[in-house]
Amino acid sequence: MTDSLIIAFDGPAASGKGTLASVIAQDYGLPMLDTGLIYRAVGFQRAQKGLSLDDVQPMVEIARTLDTETLDNPALRGREAGEWASQVAAIPEVREALKQFQIDFAHQAGGAVLDGRDIGTVIAPDADVKIFVTARAEVRAHRRWLQLVKGNPNLSFEEVLTDIRLRDERDSSRASAPLEKAADAVLLDTTDLGIEAAIEHARRIVKDRRGSF
Ligand code: C5P
Repeated sequence: MTDSLIIAFDGPAASGKGTLASVIAQDYGLPMLDTGLIYRAVGFQRAQKGLSLDDVQPMVEIARTLDTETLDNPALRGREAGEWASQVAAIPEVREALKQFQIDFAHQAGGAVLDGRDIGTVIAPDADVKIFVTARAEVRAHRRWLQLVKGNPNLSFEEVLTDIRLRDERDSSRASAPLEKAADAVLLDTTDLGIEAAIEHARRIVKDRRGSF
């Protein structure tokens, strides 16, 4: 066993991967990166600047000069930001501009936990543990709706389900680093699991894969 531990969580929107990744990062005292946030930040800035999705160079510039201090902006967690993120995430040049930062984060001394769509396949194919977290679209949409409706009481479950399906389709069918399970990732389906049970499963997978705690 080395002193470095890289743990990759991938999966579709609202599968629970972010929650699981933060618990595991805490367990092992590892830094964590929610890579969705960096795509959200680029998508958000594109929208604010009124750039079209064809304005590739300015978007690449935004990605290259992204200030990670701005990732705690609550607006990035909203519904629109998720949609904007998945649009810019389909642009290979944007992905390329964000790649080295993520690779460096994953491979820092001691290791790290990252969650996203292509961590186990592209960013850290050498990760010590890879978990692909998924759940039925209706279940994911319901979880996301419960979060979002607090800030937007008029939001319907159907609208969120439509968003989730559109995002699944775009993230899985794009040519560049599509959402897919790495061959050596363990599948964790949280459809019928409450949060505590899902955490237990994730902890067990990490322990099993790592050999010991
Ligand atoms: O995980 P989250 O829902 O915040 O991600 C927002 C969007 O960013 C995703 O729908 C996906 O299109 C994109 N993304 C990506 N690769 C990652 C993380 C997020 O393409 N590693």
